[in-house]
This record gives sequence, structure tokens and C-alpha cells, in this order.
Amino acid sequence: MSESLTGFRANVCGRIIVKVGSSLLVSKDGEVRRDWLKTLVAEIAARHRAGQRLIIVSSGSIALGARRLGLAKGGRATLEDAQAAAAVGQIALSGIWAELLQAEGVAAAQILVTLDDLEHRRRYLNASATLERLLGLGVIPVVNENDSVATEEIRFGDNDRLAARIGQAAQADAVVLLSDIDGLYTANPHVDPAAELIPMVERINARITSMATAESASGMGSGGMASKVEAARIATGAGMHLSIISGRVDAPLTRWVQSGRGTIFRADKRKTARKTWLAGRLTVRGTLVVDEGAVAALARGRSLLPAGVKGSSGDYRRGDVVNIAAPDGAVIARGLTEFDADDAARIIGHRSEDIAAILGEVQRSVLVHRDHMVVL
Ligand code: GLU
Repeated sequence: MSESLTGFRANVCGRIIVKVGSSLLVSKDGEVRRDWLKTLVAEIAARHRAGQRLIIVSSGSIALGARRLGLAKGGRATLEDAQAAAAVGQIALSGIWAELLQAEGVAAAQILVTLDDLEHRRRYLNASATLERLLGLGVIPVVNENDSVATEEIRFGDNDRLAARIGQAAQADAVVLLSDIDGLYTANPHVDPAAELIPMVERINARITSMATAESASGMGSGGMASKVEAARIATGAGMHLSIISGRVDAPLTRWVQSGRGTIFRADKRKTARKTWLAGRLTVRGTLVVDEGAVAALARGRSLLPAGVKGSSGDYRRGDVVNIAAPDGAVIARGLTEFDADDAARIIGHRSEDIAAILGEVQRSVLVHRDHMVVL
């Protein structure tokens, strides 16, 4: 169960994900910021000893590897550079986490995942089981994207969303993003002096999304505020609180507890585990635009019938994830489609009884079944 917001602030949440950004871990000259990292590891270990279960999502492999290989643009000039830099940097990165955690008497475990690993349900459940076992053994998992094998189309690219997905997989209570900025501002604080920090976000709406720009403050990581808000959407939808706090200070978690400075996105009520996984999926293959009647029916928990669909786009296959959008284009739900795109295009607007006549013998009468759908 998701614990209370008070619990999160007081840091008594049972299980948390701590994501550390590249610019915090790696200095401008490409070295690990060891002294700072020791202060973070000390507080992580203290929480671990106090019974909290923590998973670290650590960036920094590309930044570290790029320096060692002398690659331009921080190793992000091409995908091949990023893959090579990550391969070289990751070995050093895991090494330092293992060493510093070991010095605090805690064993570390490395887990590298690709986007695909978390998008396919069976592999997702597998990753979830591994995390569970490691936590049960009193180990602290250190997770990163497997950047050396991820291709452009199938990569997270940022560890913010990865942290939220790992949080789901580990059934965590909260996600803390340590960043080079201390929260979400009403405007970009680097260019607008009137920008104000937003301490609490109850709901992620268009206003909140518009406050998040894609540029990262440091230029070293790849996240920026847009991916943090996207991570917050995934986390809160899965019943986890998410906070963005500054990592620009020593012992940043303790400092946060003392000062309360940062942005907290409040968790929604928890959905079932399967729906949570579905809502957080990033690979959406198509969109079904529905009429007002279907919008109302979905809100009442009904399945999506072809009659309520006005348009279909995308090249999806049966079982793929599609977005379901209202007439104004706003995405209101997401689900696994029961038909390939070609067949869906032929039956939309028609009554379910007519499906067999249009497509031949077909047993399915709905386009997206309510058990395979999550209303957002
Ligand atoms: N996985 C990338 C790395 O370790 C970082 C992604 C990010 O910047 O969030 O270098």
C-alpha cells in the first residue's frame, strides 16, 4: 500500500527509489564526484539499516565513459558513441557504487535493463521478481539503462522515467529524483527571475506540463524537466509519490527532510498491478479516437466497442497498446487492442453484431476490453 504523504516527507516510507542524475555524479571534467557521493551513500546506508528498502537508479555511465574515451559532446554525438561510452563508463560506475556501499557494510547489485525488458509483461515480472529477491536479501540494487545495447527506437534515454518504471516493478512507495535543480518551477528559473518553486502538485494537468521544458540544466544528462514530469505521471498513476529535490548539497536526502524544499507530486490511488504496468507503458502503437458517448461509457468502466470509435491511426497489431482519445484529441485511456489496425479500420463505427459479417468469423465483440484498459 502507498504510505501517506506525511510518511514520505518524514521519510518513513517502506520502499523508495533514489535516482541520481549524471551531473551530480560526474564533475565537469569527467571524474566521479566521490566526496559528494560518499555523503549520499552514507545516508542511504543509514536508511537501509533503519529498515527502509532502497533501490538506486544511477545515471552517469555515458558521461564517465565519454571522458575516458575522449569523445566529443559528452559521448552523445551519435548512438554508437553513447553505446561505447556507456560500456566503458558503466563498469566504473558500478564499481564505485559497490565500493562505497561496501564501505558502509551494504552489498550492491547491478541491474541493467532496456526499455523492452519493462514493456514486455513476462520480462517485467521477471525483473520485478529479481528486485524483490535482492531486497529480501538485504542488498541495494543499482539500476541503469543498458545503454550499450539499446537502440534509438527502444531506449528510455533518460533515467527519470526508468526510475518510475523500476518503482512500479519493485512496488515502491515513492520515487525521489535527485537533480541539479531543486524542483519544478512556474518558469525556467535560469532565465526568468520571477519563476517560483511549486512545492506540491496534486494533479498533472496541461498547466504543469507546460512548465516543464525539455532542456536539462547541466547539459550532461538527457532528462530535463519534461522527462521528470513524465516520470511523475507514471509514478503517481502507479500509486507512488514522486519528489524532485536538489542533489547539489551534501547528504541531500537528510537536507530535504530538514528543509522540505522540493516538489512533491502526490500519488493517485493505486490501481491493480496489471493496470499500473499498462498505464506506464511507453510504447504506444496507435490511437483510437472515440465519440462523446464512448467517453462517457469508458468513464463508467465499460469496454470500448467499435461503434463508439471515429478514427484509428497507427500500425498496431492485436495485443499492442493503443491510446484512446476523446474527440478533442486528449488521451483518456490506454489499452490492449483486440484487433490489428487493418481490421480495426474496417469495423469502426459499426455495431458489434456486424463484426462477423465484415471480417468473417471473429469471436471478439469489443475493440479494447475493459480488463485490458486503464482510464487515465
Ligand atoms: N543512462 C544514462 C547514463 O547512465 C543516463 C540517462 C539520463 O541522463 O537520464 O549515462
